[in-house]
Amino acid sequence: MSEAKQKKHLSIKLHIFISMVALCLGLVLLLWLGGAAFLKQIYGAIKMRDIEHASNQISYSIEDERITEILEKIADEYDLCAKIFAFEDDDVSLVGEADFFNDCIICDDVVIGDKDLLTQMYEDARDHDGFHSMPVGDNNIITTQIVHSEANDCAYLIVLNTSSVPLSATIRTIHSLLGLMTVVAIIISLVASYFLSKRISSPIEKMDKEAKLMAKNDYEVHFEEKGPREIVDLAITLNKTSQEIAEVEKIRKELIANISHDLRTPLTMISGYSEVMRDIPGENTPENMQVIIDETARLTSLVNDLLNVSKLQSGTQKMDVKKMSLTKAIKDTVKRYDTLINHNGFTIKFESDEEAFILGDETRLLQVVYNLINNAINYTGSDKTVIVKQEITDNVVRISVIDSGEGISEQDLPLIWDRYYKVDKVHKRAMVGTGIGLSIVKNILLLHNSRFGVSSEVGKGSTFWFEFKLYQEPNQ
Ligand code: ADP
Repeated sequence: MSEAKQKKHLSIKLHIFISMVALCLGLVLLLWLGGAAFLKQIYGAIKMRDIEHASNQISYSIEDERITEILEKIADEYDLCAKIFAFEDDDVSLVGEADFFNDCIICDDVVIGDKDLLTQMYEDARDHDGFHSMPVGDNNIITTQIVHSEANDCAYLIVLNTSSVPLSATIRTIHSLLGLMTVVAIIISLVASYFLSKRISSPIEKMDKEAKLMAKNDYEVHFEEKGPREIVDLAITLNKTSQEIAEVEKIRKELIANISHDLRTPLTMISGYSEVMRDIPGENTPENMQVIIDETARLTSLVNDLLNVSKLQSGTQKMDVKKMSLTKAIKDTVKRYDTLINHNGFTIKFESDEEAFILGDETRLLQVVYNLINNAINYTGSDKTVIVKQEITDNVVRISVIDSGEGISEQDLPLIWDRYYKVDKVHKRAMVGTGIGLSIVKNILLLHNSRFGVSSEVGKGSTFWFEFKLYQEPNQ
């Protein structure tokens, strides 16, 4: 993505910040709306509960000597106006009162003196199982409760009155409290969202920096596997990815090295033969020409082949495994060396018993034989003899390439199969390679699940070998 495009997108930090602030503002708005819209209802419900509670408290102490004191206390506590009337025979009398409600509507003389109205209230309460509460007008609640007295043989009517709407002072208090809460909530949300967004985004930003390095072919980067689970998962995935890319990159580099190494062998043959044909009269024969043609063809197939090696290693391309005569393949290969070898005084002998058929990829197995013979020629001793031996035992064919050269020391033996490993860096012979040949041999033989190995003694020579199961016809 281009930088211009990137800039169009908000950073994760800003995203979190904006979301958090929006959430906070939403909640504050809800609080204000709730406060304004439902304050009256909520207040009314609370007042209703309070007044009922107060009425009950008064009813428990109605015959207490200190009833006036108790009444004052309760009225004061709940901001109400309270009256207790006694109904005895036909008479109604006020037995107690307390007024802590400024706008009381039952303090009115009319109510006190209005016997009919009081009787009506008494009957209403009686019709409602002895307790009745009712809103009066927009702002008032009145409750009436009947309490029977056995001792005095009379009935008391407790009449309470209070406001059902909050006082403007209460409203102001609530509003200023809401305002304060809003400011505090916004500050807290700003600070919290700043730290939260930083906490969440910083590992991502760190990863982004490392990923940018990876994009610049630095596969040594390591993504820190720390933090929330998703970040750790992402770091693990990215670490795996960078390892895999590094591996692919390594294979690519090795492939180039392999190609240059393996191109050298046929090129040596071609230039050797050409020189022989140019310098020695009578060597300009069709057979020698054929060797050059064959080597050129091999060169082409090697190039294709080497390109396939990395694909084979990564498992993206299958080998071309077919029934083949290993004996014939080796014989043909050895024969190719003949003229060149004779010219330089080398001898390559191929000793074989019966013809051995195996299942294998012929082109690749020829690469194995070529590499082993080349090495044997490079490192063989003064007798300049290389023996390629084929032995069959128990349905297994073993090919050994034997030389009588300098040999390989015990500590070097396990290492020679590694890529780029060379026992000694200064070789006298021109054909000495780059330290890749045996690693190619090993890879190809591993792909065939073939057993292979080397035995060597310093000063006496080396024997490189590999084994294949003989091909069995399906019906046998
Ligand atoms: P190179 O291209 O250098 O020959 P190879 O991978 O084929 O690379 O071999 C790795 C090393 O193993 C060689 O550098 C050499 O030191 C040793 N080596 C291989 N074959 C022989 C042999 N027949 N005799 C002695 N040493 C050998």
